[in-house]
Amino acid sequence: MPGGHCQVRSPKPRHSIYSLTDSSDVGPEEEEVDDVMPRLTPLEKLTTDMCKDETTIKELIIGRRVGFYKVRGEIGCGTFSRVKLAFHALTKDKVALKILDKTRLDSQAQRLLSKEIHSMELLQHPNVVQLYEVVETPSRLYLVMEYAGGGDLHNRICSEGKLSDSASKITFAQVLSAIKYMHNMNVIHRDLKAENVLFTCSGCLKVADFGFSTQVSNRSDALDTFCGSPPYAAPELFKDESYLGPPVDVWAMGVLLFFMVTGTMPFRADTMGKLRRSIIEGAFTVPPWVPGPCQRLIKGILKPVPTERYALDQMLGCDWLLPVEFPWLMLPSEPESPVGSLLDSEGLDEEEEEEVRSSLEELGFTTEHLRNNQLKDSRSPITWCSSNPAAPSPEEEGL
Ligand code: ADP
Ligand code: MG
Repeated sequence: MPGGHCQVRSPKPRHSIYSLTDSSDVGPEEEEVDDVMPRLTPLEKLTTDMCKDETTIKELIIGRRVGFYKVRGEIGCGTFSRVKLAFHALTKDKVALKILDKTRLDSQAQRLLSKEIHSMELLQHPNVVQLYEVVETPSRLYLVMEYAGGGDLHNRICSEGKLSDSASKITFAQVLSAIKYMHNMNVIHRDLKAENVLFTCSGCLKVADFGFSTQVSNRSDALDTFCGSPPYAAPELFKDESYLGPPVDVWAMGVLLFFMVTGTMPFRADTMGKLRRSIIEGAFTVPPWVPGPCQRLIKGILKPVPTERYALDQMLGCDWLLPVEFPWLMLPSEPESPVGSLLDSEGLDEEEEEEVRSSLEELGFTTEHLRNNQLKDSRSPITWCSSNPAAPSPEEEGL
């Protein structure tokens, strides 16, 4: 089937009341009624259109539609990808579609992409961009992700200046919450920077871009690939042949915190050599007007020796963050589409679950659909996100 991978089942005709009458009683009028096309559910109409409707098929071929999603304008651009806004044709949910041209990916890019998908499939946290689905066509790969429409932290600071003390606390606490969760799952981000910190339209923070991430089998495993952006890179990345994952993310959090509270970067230089030297020396100055507890946190994080650097739990208990109630407790959860919330029905009471089930049924998703798709991971257009057995395990990757 062009452009999609979803299974299309021919719509089951619904019997009208006339079909129950004895055929000998059926007059010409009733016969006509019996010939009328049965009313299709939105799901049946969409899947039929994807097979039979010329316009829909053309849109699938040219990439204006991907699976169940209608594709709109570009919202971002990466090294190997373009990111477009799209929305689910049935639920109208907005998503971000990361589009990769498979023919342009060399073996290293393929390895990184496979890790990006693997990490995202493992993670489900309110402050991490969620991967809903992966759609593959012969030439392209589409990552269907949660849409964060509120812009990124880098642009926000560049256009509006440094964050206030309280905004910095709320923002940093959400980053901390996301990284703590990732590290608990043995996922190291390795490209944490303000450009990869996004906001939803309702202001919730989402850590994005797992393109350099990796899953380690043990957090004390040594890694050896230089990843990320130089101004955020920890000193050991420039000096040592191997490094530990968690302290590298922690260092980047220190640079991020400095940037949030001052609007400037702690390490700046006009050449790469000078930048490298200043990071290795760990020479930076926190402006005196930064509140003392925040200064102490920055200095505790930006320690050149990784073993002396603050651990995440020390940050969680630091004076500066004491007044912050942790974000997963205080932020309203994002409105989810019916499919997602039904599959993640743990947090729903019976009444809510019934409500979701009935809105899904109105669209044409039956309980049977959900049951049949439960184990299909992010390859299913119905189920969102779980683990990806096809992705290499850390052992296979030699980590
Ligand atoms: P790269 O790995 O090439 O940096 P990213 O995953 O960071 O690619 O995506 C590139 C850009 O696309 C981001 O900087 C951001 O502007 C936009 N973008 C990516 N993911 C999302 C998303 N989930 N919601 C909104 N915009 C996004
Ligand atoms: Mg990026």
